[in-house]
Amino acid sequence: MKKVNSIFYGSYIIGLGLLFLIPIPLLLYITKRYFCSIFLSYAIGASIVIGTIVECAFGILLIIELHQDEKIQKYCQNHRNIKIKLEEGKYECQNCGNRMVKEQDEECSICGIKYVENEIKTIQEILRM
Ligand SMILES: [Zn+2]
Repeated sequence: MKKVNSIFYGSYIIGLGLLFLIPIPLLLYITKRYFCSIFLSYAIGASIVIGTIVECAFGILLIIELHQDEKIQKYCQNHRNIKIKLEEGKYECQNCGNRMVKEQDEECSICGIKYVENEIKTIQEILRM
């Protein structure tokens, strides 16, 4: 499974869900007081259902992300002297988080830890363990 990383879009999804849960039903409710319509009652219900679905789906996504982060964290705590491949040509030192590590580096230029030879993992490989 792909690594979930909601840090850049999580707040927008929460905001979208809240929009359907509070302001839209409130506006429809106020409108309903002036124009009594069965359609508005259904629209209020539909908006609350959409908002609930969006928030629950994001909650599930967040649980998956936290589980993945926990798995990576546990692995890296026990394997501090490895490099993790982030993307093509970019590696991260698992002892200090230095992201300027190159594939051929034998030790970290920041913390000085010596890397285990040929021990390069990707996030996907750690998640599959
Ligand atoms: Zn380091």
